[in-house]
Amino acid sequence: MASILDRVADKLQRKERLGREDALELFASSDLLGLGRLANQVRQERWGNRAHFVINRQINPTNVCVLSCKFCDFATKRGRPNAYEMSLEEVLARCDSGIREVHIVGGLHPDWPWSYYVEMLRAIKARHPQVQIKAFTAVEIEFFSKKFRLPIEEVLRQLKAAGLDALPGGGAEVFSERVRKALFPFKIGAPRWLEIHKAAHRLGIPTNSTLLYGHIETHEERVDHMLKLRELQDETGGLMSFIPLAYPVGGTHLDERQASAIEDLKSIAIGRLLLDNVPHIKAYWVTMGEEIASIALTFGADDLDGTIGEERIMHAADAATPISQTRERLIQLIRDARCVPVERDALYNVIEVYENGHRLS
Ligand code: SF4
Repeated sequence: MASILDRVADKLQRKERLGREDALELFASSDLLGLGRLANQVRQERWGNRAHFVINRQINPTNVCVLSCKFCDFATKRGRPNAYEMSLEEVLARCDSGIREVHIVGGLHPDWPWSYYVEMLRAIKARHPQVQIKAFTAVEIEFFSKKFRLPIEEVLRQLKAAGLDALPGGGAEVFSERVRKALFPFKIGAPRWLEIHKAAHRLGIPTNSTLLYGHIETHEERVDHMLKLRELQDETGGLMSFIPLAYPVGGTHLDERQASAIEDLKSIAIGRLLLDNVPHIKAYWVTMGEEIASIALTFGADDLDGTIGEERIMHAADAATPISQTRERLIQLIRDARCVPVERDALYNVIEVYENGHRLS
């Protein structure tokens, strides 16, 4: 009988979609390099040897959160020594000139008014019109809707009017009721996350998607998660990227060790093969490590994320990577993978192509 890689190669040749069983067999396969070759072939057909990055800034306005998800090392409660709350001026001070994207996510603050969030976006756009704002996960959008008694569409409409360009993909974790009940029982599950992203797409707000892996989830749950994202994308076409995020063990210890490099590369490669309708697969260097992220560019990924500036969420869980990167380092990591660095904005418009040491527009 033909190997799973041969069968998948045949399907790719016939332009046939991979199914659940194919993906599960790929996770079980020991031929990592063969899997990488197939995923790289699909990535090459779409992007050639280009790999994207962005000059961006992450801002986490507060770590005070009304919830206490079991996998989260970032959130805390008011009054604790590590709690912080940024004023609007402190948020604005973090938007340096030169960045193209600001990525804003944070804790679900018990007291901040709706005007704080709307004003934040308005003020960033007023001071930095060139910056695109990717802000607030579906979990935060749901929180705003409940707390401020506004329908989801109205929350999104008001944020868009204030300057929101895109939603990040966080808060999806793993679309499994079993995992949700065990790790984040008070947070939204798959149906609501998908509904909120659909609403954003209907309003012309593109979004990203994530998968948090390497804790208590199974390969079946990972694959089912990806298939739900593929269905969403078939319906709306609004997803820009898929970002597998390795769970950082930190102080929560849901697993003894972080997912292996092999699991990282398999999640990227299978993401590329299964999510045939999602344009970008991101190797997030913060969780994966810089070198594995660079290798992932030859396993189906076409994006490394960005310079970030100040990463707090994964570093609250003791991530071993730096809290920021320089443009030069990202270019080097991309060139190490024999790819051509392409600087992008939050919406994946091309800003610069760096070919043979020269910048080309
Ligand atoms: S994962 Fe998000 S919602 Fe859950 S405790 Fe952490 S910050 Fe709060």
